[in-house]
Amino acid sequence: MFSQHWFNISPHIPVAKRALLILILTCLHSGLSAQSPPTKPFVQYNERDSLYLNRIHKAGRGPLDSSRLTRTKWERWQRLGREKLQELLGLQQIAKDCKGHTPTVALGERIPEDGYTRRLGVIETEPGIKIPFWLLEPTGLSVHPRPIAICAQGHGGNSWNNYAGIYNSQSEEDRAHSRNATPGLEAVKRGFTTIVPAIRGLATAASIADPKGRHGDQLCRAQLVHALLAGRTAIGERVWDCQRLLDWAQDSLVGVDTRKVLFTGNSGGGVLTVYMAALDPRIKVAVPSCSFTSYTSATGYIFHCDCCLVPRVQVELGDFTDIGALIAPRHLMSVHGRQDSLHHFSDVELAMERVARVYRKLGHAERFSHQWGDQGHQFYPELMWRFIEQAIGTIEN
Ligand SMILES: [Zn+2]
Repeated sequence: MFSQHWFNISPHIPVAKRALLILILTCLHSGLSAQSPPTKPFVQYNERDSLYLNRIHKAGRGPLDSSRLTRTKWERWQRLGREKLQELLGLQQIAKDCKGHTPTVALGERIPEDGYTRRLGVIETEPGIKIPFWLLEPTGLSVHPRPIAICAQGHGGNSWNNYAGIYNSQSEEDRAHSRNATPGLEAVKRGFTTIVPAIRGLATAASIADPKGRHGDQLCRAQLVHALLAGRTAIGERVWDCQRLLDWAQDSLVGVDTRKVLFTGNSGGGVLTVYMAALDPRIKVAVPSCSFTSYTSATGYIFHCDCCLVPRVQVELGDFTDIGALIAPRHLMSVHGRQDSLHHFSDVELAMERVARVYRKLGHAERFSHQWGDQGHQFYPELMWRFIEQAIGTIEN
């Protein structure tokens, strides 16, 4: 049973208090670094809207509030949190809809590349839903068995192909490289057996249509609306697909170490990374990029795209940072860009401190890292791979 009373929830912490904490934090940080962004709120609302948002978006409102977590209650907190998260994501409904279906995988022929091979695969994760993915396997490397990497795309119809080094045009290739949007290539060149799936509602190849532009001609919103109506969520469908892929990878891939699984993604792929790792203990290293922060800013602005919506999550579980804390004590690195216009420096700092506190409480402060890159909404390979390789190296052979 999952109730509001695990931790004797004290009076709610209003958004206004968060705003004050953020101001203090930002002022302190401004004194330490000349690079700190300005201290003003991310957005400002008029008085009526502010009062309303302050009232409904309260940090610490849900039972998963990680700031009240104690070491002794950790295992129960984590178990109950995952159970409730499964329900809120609609995973039980998806499982019910897929009763009797066994996912199948078809793989194309190996295409040799420089230092690795590339195969196109298709997994049927629920009846009639065939999700394409790239399987990249290193060649000529001596490390056996190999760790597994799953790299999840964000918004962008062809991003999953770009992640695996496939481009429709020279300009698409140039753009992908300028934003370091090739994590699959980086993973395979570092010795990971790498899976790069098309993500439902994000990849054109794995999305339902939006006839007449009813959902704004946005694939992800069309997915969201259909999913919500059917008792699912868009995130839930994405987690479902990736879990089925991981099932297959663990059962069928040869020469891999199934105890060493990395999941990473930028933007919408980073949001998926947090949910996937929070729910699935098979993920041993999680690196969400330009995505992991609180659901709302101090003033109540919602950071993530509509398709990341999980109904009732704030009141029935907690903040996104509380969901992310379910990953502890496994290795977790969050990366953000100082010039990322979709996120806010002070809100991110406060959110990451909330997560760091959980890792400290559990005695594994070294397994959590938060770092800032100097650019915008993109991957920062020079930051993330150092952490990943160190983390993978600590997992027992
Ligand atoms: Zn979206």
